[in-house]
Amino acid sequence: MKQYYLIMDIGMTKTTCALFTTDGICVDDYFYVIPSQTAFGAEAVLANTKNALDHILEHFKVDPGSVAGIGVGGPGPLDAARGVIIDSPMMGVKNFAMADRLREIYHVPVAMDNDGNLGALAEQRCGVAKGMSNVLYMTVSTGCGGGAVLNGQIHRGSHYSAAEFGHISIDPEGEKCPCGNRGCVEMLASGTAITRRMRADLLAGKKSMAFEAAGYDPDKVKGALLTEAAAAGDEYALAFYRQEGRYLGQALAVYFNCFDPDVFVLGGGVTKARAYFHEEMMRELRERAIMEVPDDRVKYSVMNDRVVAYGAYYLIKEQTA
Ligand SMILES: [Zn+2]
Repeated sequence: MKQYYLIMDIGMTKTTCALFTTDGICVDDYFYVIPSQTAFGAEAVLANTKNALDHILEHFKVDPGSVAGIGVGGPGPLDAARGVIIDSPMMGVKNFAMADRLREIYHVPVAMDNDGNLGALAEQRCGVAKGMSNVLYMTVSTGCGGGAVLNGQIHRGSHYSAAEFGHISIDPEGEKCPCGNRGCVEMLASGTAITRRMRADLLAGKKSMAFEAAGYDPDKVKGALLTEAAAAGDEYALAFYRQEGRYLGQALAVYFNCFDPDVFVLGGGVTKARAYFHEEMMRELRERAIMEVPDDRVKYSVMNDRVVAYGAYYLIKEQTA
């Protein structure tokens, strides 16, 4: 009897693996997390993935025959129909038929999609946007991944490149992004961007408790120190987060004007500091959007690190049901 789904989230730095029941319960709430072998190319990523899946089967003493399918979240752009990672330069993976390879190994159906789309799917199926028709999602962490569920279904676009919310330009003259655009949301508002901007400010001689806590060492500067400084009322940190709010609000106004969603869900590590940017973000969004945006149209993910795993569960469940 098929009782389980194997669930994978292959991220740039971490790979997360779990066992779900066919009713959507993560068994023992156990998420097995290992480093992704992204520096070593596609075959290494596959071998790493297989090791993680085998660990889960062994850990729970589950017979592969009782697995109904494997749901996988990976980096975009990703051909979700064929389960092919199209091009992930940072992962050193190009046109890699991950789903086919996993099918050959485990002889079960495999469904795959990019992490942004699965984030949106999870929030719409069981998260803070449960049951709503049109749901947009963006994670603000190392990078800014996006996804859209429109009329209850993942909107992938014609070439699997829809909902790239991190690559909307909010500063046309800004720094060049690897995507070709300038001043992308990801270049200005992601966790990586926060660290980069803090470092530049430190080197420019600005003063902050966040820099004191890092001993004025540019290599020790990080977002967590900024949040601590903001909590202590540090002027630099508070102003920094107000700017973060303006960046996000500008970007949200674009997404709202394009999609008119029921709700936009924000996730990722940076949103832990929302107390310091939410108000400014909403003010900017309301000022720029063509429509009224009541408070309840922007929500924060509560699944966070697990959102892609839940999305991968719904993806394989609905494809095999
Ligand atoms: Zn970009």
